[in-house]
Amino acid sequence: MPDDLLGRLKRFRRSTFPRYRREFRDLAQRGQHPRTLFIGCSDSRLVPHLLTDSGPGELFVVRNVGNFVPPWDASRGYHGTCAAIEFALLNLRVRDIVVCGHSHCGAVRALYEDAPAQAPHLAQWLELGREACLPVRSTPEALHRTEQRSIALQLERLMQYPLVAAGVERGELFLHGWHYLIEEGEVTVLDLAQSAFVPAGRGPGADGGPPVLDLLQ
Ligand SMILES: [Zn+2]
Repeated sequence: MPDDLLGRLKRFRRSTFPRYRREFRDLAQRGQHPRTLFIGCSDSRLVPHLLTDSGPGELFVVRNVGNFVPPWDASRGYHGTCAAIEFALLNLRVRDIVVCGHSHCGAVRALYEDAPAQAPHLAQWLELGREACLPVRSTPEALHRTEQRSIALQLERLMQYPLVAAGVERGELFLHGWHYLIEEGEVTVLDLAQSAFVPAGRGPGADGGPPVLDLLQ
């Protein structure tokens, strides 16, 4: 581990941890009860806790390349993202699921390029965004639209999960599609009524129902 990271660990123990000591000890004793499952891209510029002004115990986070949700299947493979979704719903009983993509997403851009031959797992994983691609060149506008269409696609896939569909139908679980504009610090949310992503805080968002990819065409 580079010295830089070790130095940061020391700083955390010395300066940051004391500010949160009570919270961490409470959470250790009482367990975690986050209300939100946050499915975000692994991109280092997307920082879920900063974005949502959240502290310890508030977000259950699963991140992967492209903020993709694998399709529901019964293959019982090593599906880490699927396992996290099941754990969040069954064990934590989260109320909200956020799928958060972002501008300048390398996973989305890679969909318009040749698949990396030395990375078969990555190439296969990226196929989870293929359906969101547009039959055009990868202009900044096309990439922006593909990022947003992919978020809608992942929300559709979430609705294939029996636990998710049941929770939404009971009115106990709410799905949200967010697109984070890195350079502006702005999040737009999928608003089904307007068939578009709108600045957070305007419109009802994607609560209560599955998005439809067609809406974004
Ligand atoms: Zn990304």
